[in-house]
Amino acid sequence: MPGAGDQADPMTARAAVIGAGPSGFYAADQLLKGGVAVDLFDALPTPYGLVRAGVAPDHPKIKSVARIYERTAQHPDFRFFGGVEVGADVTGDELRERYHAVVYAVGTPTDNRLGIPGDDRRGSIAATQFVAWYNGHPGHADEAFDLSCSRAVVIGNGNVAIDVARMLVLDPDELASTDTADHAIATFARASVSEVVILGRRGPAQAAFTNPELRELGELSRADVVVDPADLEAEVPNDLHSTARRNLEILRSYSERPPAGRSHRVVLRFCRSPVEILGDGEHGPVTGVRVVRNRLEDGRALATGEEEVIPCGLVIRSIGYRGRPLPGIPFDERRGLIRNAGGRVCDEDGTPRLGEYAVGWIKRGPSGVIGTNKKCATDTVAALLEDLAGGRLAEPPKGADEAWVRARVAGLVTWRGWKAIDEHERARGAPAGRPRVKLVRVPEMLAVVGQNTGVSV
Ligand code: NAP
Repeated sequence: MPGAGDQADPMTARAAVIGAGPSGFYAADQLLKGGVAVDLFDALPTPYGLVRAGVAPDHPKIKSVARIYERTAQHPDFRFFGGVEVGADVTGDELRERYHAVVYAVGTPTDNRLGIPGDDRRGSIAATQFVAWYNGHPGHADEAFDLSCSRAVVIGNGNVAIDVARMLVLDPDELASTDTADHAIATFARASVSEVVILGRRGPAQAAFTNPELRELGELSRADVVVDPADLEAEVPNDLHSTARRNLEILRSYSERPPAGRSHRVVLRFCRSPVEILGDGEHGPVTGVRVVRNRLEDGRALATGEEEVIPCGLVIRSIGYRGRPLPGIPFDERRGLIRNAGGRVCDEDGTPRLGEYAVGWIKRGPSGVIGTNKKCATDTVAALLEDLAGGRLAEPPKGADEAWVRARVAGLVTWRGWKAIDEHERARGAPAGRPRVKLVRVPEMLAVVGQNTGVSV
């Protein structure tokens, strides 16, 4: 580990940014603008994190933010090291020996748990899994979901719940022009889910939906959106923020709208918490969800004891994401985040670990839209540059040429390699008018990189 005290020259300083999603790219951009060279590491051969593997494929406009990241990648002091898992292929300590600073932008890849009986039975799945699967994430490409039931229940009232509900009822023709993974397009085409119930534990005023996403539910070509007017009578706080106020207006309009007789339905139900996921036998497939009706007190959900069963064959738990601890990096178990103060990683007693930073969801939790990460990155990088200018970041004792990474990782993918994958995927998609047909397995990606860059991997 470098000793503190030797001052780093801001013009030759270099940082390793871990995670090539939005927060990683915004941090890289800010660092480059601050005169710090950046190596951006990702465990996958492909960049863009949740823009590639999280944003719903029928939202191509949101995905087009990647063009901004492409511009960052053009900077001469930027390098991409894809296919490198920090914590497994290289350790945080090794990075500290080679970089003035390490910025963790690893996101929050796991799901919160309901902690109720039946949570883990067949047919009860985490939205994180389902989203990664339909977006062609290589870690989820071989999963198989049974969509042969007629009703699915999505638990949670956030935008991810809306995304998965919408994906379940989109017309296959609408999916055909997207970059949804081919295995998912095929599964959705065979699906018989015709009703999706979105379940909120609190009232409509407390839902975490944003207005455009909720409005879009009412514009689906083959699904009616259904809201029981009685569900809109829940307590509404006086100081309602504008998003929640508009959400209520949208929900009210849904409750007044007569069904148009479409083949599918999305039903929004509020003030109901799941208490058990029911099924055949101990682990047998899902047959329903037992829910308890809640009343609200100061915005909190309190169970009334009044229960009902919603029969269904699929439960998607969409109740938020959680960070995963990295070896040797202080982790706040309660919040599921890297322990940090304003982006500076710190020990349990609050002492900052000089040269280590966090940004994005792993710093502040899984909230906000993609652009929220820009401000978040600006704040973290400002702290880093302040430490650099204050002489608090030591000169790393070892160099960071590409060879040391290549020596560790047989399948290293540089930006040139990613561009080969990108072009290959776009070319596959072009005949069908799709933005791309994704490669969903790492060996396929590495083969394309090898063919196009002459680097055998
Ligand atoms: P989220 O917005 O935090 O929503 C999580 C939902 O889960 C909340 O409704 C929460 O209810 C509920 N929940 C938590 N624990 C629960 C439990 N034990 N039982 C029942 N319900 C429970 O999370 P998200 O939907 O995963 O989205 C993550 C972030 O990504 C958000 O900022 C979201 O806006 C963003 N995103 C944006 C888009 C877009 O812009 N198109 C798309 C997808 C995601 P309580 O409020 O009662 O805790």
